[in-house]
This record gives sequence, structure tokens and C-alpha cells, in this order.
Amino acid sequence: MILVAADLDRTLVHSARAAGPVPEGTLCLERRGDVPTAMLTRRTAADLAALDHRAVWVPATTRSVAEYERLDLPRRLGVAPRFAVCANGGVLLVDGVRDPAWSSEVSRRLASAASQAEVARRLGAAREVDGCFFLAREAEEGLAAWCAERGWRVDAYRDKVHVLPAALTKSAAVAEVRRRTGTTHLLAAGDSPLDADLLAAADAGIQPVDGRLYASGWRADHVAVTSGRGLAAGEEIAAWLVRGLRPT
Ligand SMILES: [Mg+2]
Repeated sequence: MILVAADLDRTLVHSARAAGPVPEGTLCLERRGDVPTAMLTRRTAADLAALDHRAVWVPATTRSVAEYERLDLPRRLGVAPRFAVCANGGVLLVDGVRDPAWSSEVSRRLASAASQAEVARRLGAAREVDGCFFLAREAEEGLAAWCAERGWRVDAYRDKVHVLPAALTKSAAVAEVRRRTGTTHLLAAGDSPLDADLLAAADAGIQPVDGRLYASGWRADHVAVTSGRGLAAGEEIAAWLVRGLRPT
């Protein structure tokens, strides 16, 4: 059995801003006001259904549990991944329920980093995401260095500043799923610097050419790059993952 771990936003689903041309029949899973914030093409949706049937498919997202649930994959796409990684690895959902054993393990792994309370004091106004990390509006001068000294890190993009414990990773949560399911082969997909550890841990992976990770210069021999952008890249990634299920 193959394990497929894939990021969602800007990897498999795209906001209006990131989508590029939107073909007829494109599905919308989420909108803010009138603006779509998570779309995918019918072809991508069909490939996700194939993944769901033929592999252990794990959505691996930095979204909070509530934000992940808002996509409502079971009702909208007819897929029900048994495992889902949320909050950048801080939460493992098993059949839709937060796995307590993984939450304890995360606390244990983060014990040597500065506490959430200490970081919250430094950040001032910031949203806490599932008790795992913070989303701030701006990265003030010196924040990254301050975090680095305390076992935390900063990933800033536009008005979204993720402030996370350095040990809070998608790859750690996916490794736990790998251990529990006994899967040996890992395929991965992701677009952002927060996906680098997951792609690095995979046997093979793919990143979109319009992703921030690609723009940062990150490359690996076992990680392919899409030729298309936006929704077209999402289609390419889903098709690439399905092709990877074939025995070689
Ligand atoms: Mg992403």
C-alpha cells in the first residue's frame, strides 16, 4: 500500500487569486464573501477520488481543524480520507476525530521549545491555531531571530505570518501515519516552505512551478515540478500522484 500525503492550498485547491484561468465546471469548496478561496477542477476531483480508493491518502495542511472541515471533502467530493494532518502536523485527525495519542506526542516533542504563552506575549495580537502555532499579521524586525533562539520559526507570506515551533512539521505527523498503516512508499506534494520537510521525506514528490518553495530555489532530485500553474498545476499534481500508484 502506498501513502500519499498532499498539501491542499495552492497545491490541490486554489483561491481565485492563485487559480489562473478557471475552466467551466470548476468546483468551489470554500468562499469568503463572494470570492472563492478553494477551487479545484473536475479532473482533479476525480483523481482525488481515485487516490482515496487506491491508496492511503492523507491531506496534510497548515489549516486549522475548523478550516479543514469547512472544505467538507466527504460531502462535496465524496472522499473520506481516514487520516488528515492539520495545523502543520500539530493535529492528526483519525476518522474526523483529533487523535489524543498524537497530541501527547506533539507536546512531548515540543517540550524543549519556548511555551505558547511566552511566544504569545512576544507577538501581542496573533491568532492561536488549534493550540499549536500562531498566525500574525506582520513579522516585526527581529522576530525570526528571537524565535530561532527559542526553538520556533517564522514563515511569512504577504499578510500571513506563521509562527511555529520548529519541531512542528507535517512530515512528523505523516511519519506517524506511515507507522500506523505499515505503508512503505511515500508520495508527497506541496507548494510552500512549510512543505519542504514533507517533500524531502518522501520517496518521490512534486511541487508546483508557481509555488513559494520553488521560487525560493528549493529543488530535489526526487521532486518533480509542474509545467502548469494554478488550477492546471493542481490537475497535474493529482494526475502525477495517481500515476505514482501504478506498480513500477
Ligand atoms: Mg499550500
